[in-house]
Amino acid sequence: MVKKITAVIIALILSINLSACSSQEKTRYEAEFLMLFDTITQIVGYSESKEEFADQVQMIHDNLEEYHQLYDIYNGYDGINNMKTINDQAGIAPVEVDRRIIDMLLFSKEAYEMSDGKINVAFGAVLKIWHDYRDEGIENPEKAELPPVEMLMEAAKHTDISQLIIDEESATVFLADSGMSLDVGAIAKGYAVEEISKMALDNGLTSALISVGGNVRSIGVKADSGARWTVGIKNPLDVDGKNISRVELEDASLVTSGIYERYYTVNGRRYHHIIDPVTLFPAEYFASVSILCPDSGLADALSTSVFTMPFEQGLALIESLPDTEAVWVFHDGEIRYSSNYNEYTND
Ligand code: ADP
Ligand code: MG
Repeated sequence: MVKKITAVIIALILSINLSACSSQEKTRYEAEFLMLFDTITQIVGYSESKEEFADQVQMIHDNLEEYHQLYDIYNGYDGINNMKTINDQAGIAPVEVDRRIIDMLLFSKEAYEMSDGKINVAFGAVLKIWHDYRDEGIENPEKAELPPVEMLMEAAKHTDISQLIIDEESATVFLADSGMSLDVGAIAKGYAVEEISKMALDNGLTSALISVGGNVRSIGVKADSGARWTVGIKNPLDVDGKNISRVELEDASLVTSGIYERYYTVNGRRYHHIIDPVTLFPAEYFASVSILCPDSGLADALSTSVFTMPFEQGLALIESLPDTEAVWVFHDGEIRYSSNYNEYTND
């Protein structure tokens, strides 16, 4: 079945800040649109004119839509070979794909190495089972069930990332194991946000904050004041309550993985959507992990990986990476920070 998602720009350009135009002569604008990556995209930026900002937002929207279609594992689109095409051809034939798929999958393999296998895009077979049980459980809460362990273990036999064959020369991707499938939910959104942010910068947008469903990437500083962009980090144990921290971003990203994003409840217990490849069950270490670093693709990959690691292992990984910081919130409310976290905050 081919489903076409029509993207709608909902409310473009809402507020105008005239107070602080100063020497830059730039005005603050905001835009918001729905549908892409199954979430809300919000853009705040400073531009010379409303028209210029509208052009920049349109460019971001159109490119993000292309990434969304290429990285979609659920829907096919006319005339495009995407992630779903690759999965449908598992064990059958290599699929010729756009360079943007090849590059994202190469990055996914690097993320697998870096995380000691904790983030694995070849984990689709297991993740699909959890996805189906979660959908069922949300639909019929009184009948919510956990997937049988044997079913998960059988699927886990088909998650060997070395069977993901990327041929850069012929621009093809092949899943050599017919029981395997790719799920890029932990990586694709952040990766796409990084790519479109660089494009926007090349297109003249030098001061902006882009959030795609909470995957935040900043460009420059606020053009009127020269101050960094400030973003709050939610308390995963009380999402409507006070933020746990306020971070400041300049050409940097903030991505959080947490128990409150997507989950279902079985016998009074919450089962969320990030699966530890070792236990095949939702990772239990933390309520949330937030990552700060320049690259939004890396931030997204790290947020999922570090969420599935014991604190010491995650801390060692974060401390080994330049300009990368993290904050961990434990189930009892305890909060831990990496060593140079204060570089990203004024609190
Ligand atoms: P969000 O969905 O809020 O962006 P994440 O970036 O943490 O949150 O990604 C979670 C998604 O990643 C899940 O919905 C699932 O599709 C996928 N996923 C879950 N666990 C893993 C894992 N261990 N390795 C790779 N992908 C995973
Ligand atoms: Mg992630």
